[in-house]
Amino acid sequence: MNGYLRLTGVSLRYGPQQEPALDEVDLEVPAGSSVAILGPSGSGKSTLLRVAAGLEEPTAGSVTLDDVDLAGTAAENRGMAMVFQRPLLFPHLDVTDNVAFADRVRGVPRRAARRRAREFLELVQLAGFERRTPRSLSGGQEQRVALARALAAEPRVLLLDEPFSALDAGLREEMYELLDELRLRLSPTILLVTHDHREADALGDTVAVLDGGRLLQSGPMRQLYTRPASLAVSRLLGGRNEIAGEVRGGWHHSPLGVFRVATSVADGPGVLLIRQEAVELTGADADAVGTVVRVRRRGPRALVTVEVGGPDRPGTARVTAELGPGLQLEVGRDVGLRLPAEALAVVAGNARQDGVEADPVESVDDGQR
Ligand code: ADP
Ligand code: MG
Repeated sequence: MNGYLRLTGVSLRYGPQQEPALDEVDLEVPAGSSVAILGPSGSGKSTLLRVAAGLEEPTAGSVTLDDVDLAGTAAENRGMAMVFQRPLLFPHLDVTDNVAFADRVRGVPRRAARRRAREFLELVQLAGFERRTPRSLSGGQEQRVALARALAAEPRVLLLDEPFSALDAGLREEMYELLDELRLRLSPTILLVTHDHREADALGDTVAVLDGGRLLQSGPMRQLYTRPASLAVSRLLGGRNEIAGEVRGGWHHSPLGVFRVATSVADGPGVLLIRQEAVELTGADADAVGTVVRVRRRGPRALVTVEVGGPDRPGTARVTAELGPGLQLEVGRDVGLRLPAEALAVVAGNARQDGVEADPVESVDDGQR
């Protein structure tokens, strides 16, 4: 178990006419770490995993495992195991034989292979399910079997292709916890891909954002949330606030007010970004004051949109705050906003639609946490 995977300058075109599905991707997955690739549908996530696994040959670039170049090494000899969104279990084998499959192929006698398989079933908390058929399992249980089967192969890298996205929110949460435990016990090297920023955050030590085959930004998720390098990254991470304005001498000017720019951004059009979770409502010492124009409930939380600006300032800006339970706010109320400096990011350029709230990629359980 536990190899160091590295992709260097990996590009892949499926056809000479096609846009590259991967475009000079550099990625490191240190031994024992978990790296999450976050990207929308069609961004090249599965392609990237297939290249790592040796199921697809890159047009350019290299894949190494513990500094050994894998070009020419067949998929079955790479020491990698993949788990897909669908578990792909053998329906005619019981759960134990499904997990024992890799050992059986390697020539391990059935009894010994089944004994080992039971250990891995226990590891994924499926003790008692040994003789069940895949058909009799729930989706979450099937995916546990798939995980046990992958781990039983003792891969040096575990590749996970949106493995939990077909599960409902509660089951997904259980799988996150299971994976945490597996990491504590086995320290596998994990490369996983997902379209869900919460999943990336839950499962990845670091996250790399993929869009159109290119890696846009990578780092710890906290950093991506508070300092997205572009509007595209902000949106993929579910960011809702994009305040169009002007950068002059290190300050961002907009109908919201004047805010210090923490990073170096050239003078000119600039968009102020702040996570909805970081916006606070306040009575005193407000950074801006405005009127509630929209309230949307999200389980115990609420998305409250405040319009700032008016007679004394040209234009308006809308800021959405995600607030916890206990606050009763209705449309028409005047409120003060606090925008903590450490949560503000500015990127150069224009918002795609001035003053209109961004339409982020939402996951199914948006706002449930
Ligand atoms: P994701 O997993 O992020 O949804 P994919 O890696 O499956 O994205 O696909 C990336 C791009 O490559 C898409 O534009 C897709 O249509 C294209 N693509 C994927 N597989 C093939 C293939 N076998 N032949 C041709 N094009 C493909
Ligand atoms: Mg895919």
